Amino acid sequence: CGIIGILGSHEVSPQLVDALRRLEYRGYDSAGVATVDARGRLDRRRAVGKLVNLSDRLVHDPLPGHIGIGHTRWATHGAATEANAHPHQSGPVAVVHNGIIENFRELRDELASLGIQPQSQTDTETVALWTAHHMNAGASPLEAARSTLARLRGAFALAFLFDGEQDLMIAARKGSPLAIGHGSGEMFLGSDAVALAPFTDRITYLEDGDHAVLTRAGARIFDAAGNQTNRIEARIDTGA
Ligand code: GLU
Repeated sequence: CGIIGILGSHEVSPQLVDALRRLEYRGYDSAGVATVDARGRLDRRRAVGKLVNLSDRLVHDPLPGHIGIGHTRWATHGAATEANAHPHQSGPVAVVHNGIIENFRELRDELASLGIQPQSQTDTETVALWTAHHMNAGASPLEAARSTLARLRGAFALAFLFDGEQDLMIAARKGSPLAIGHGSGEMFLGSDAVALAPFTDRITYLEDGDHAVLTRAGARIFDAAGNQTNRIEARIDTGA
């Protein structure tokens, strides 16, 4: 029920969990984070229940990296288990999602016909599996994400993280809110300005149908037709 993304300048796992704490008010049943470490390795940690379970996990099994995504889940498809918690990872891609992929059965059945089986009961995992499938067929991360996004029906805020990519995050929204936060030499992504308040007050809200390519140098935003576009950057008084 909440998303956070950080392209940072030091270890992001603690920051991700802090930001998820600010999204707790939305309710959740499980949580997780994924990072890409200094050697380019994509990995994740997830835990059912309160965020303290995730932060305890991270103490015993740290997740290094200066770029990462985090998620609090409010289950719609699949029970509140660790296997169903986000991020969902398939090969070179990890995905966090708020909302519902309405045509996930169709997407899952097509994957099955390709011999690709899900590890969870979620609608979300089909997004990771399809994106990984496109990358395995030679697509770049952006091409793969776009091919997948073109197939999705329903409501979503999505963030994608990629193995070997320490300066790349892809975001998309349709029907669920998502905002980009601008730092200096750092970039952020969040469900709302509250989550981003500790990091920045310079916010750009994505509009419906937008997707965005984030690097530490900035964000390129594309509209529903795929054309690069400008969205207003606002200064938010969060009272933080
Ligand atoms: N539909 C997804 C799931 O059940 C995302 C739920 C959410 O918005 O947290 O895993």
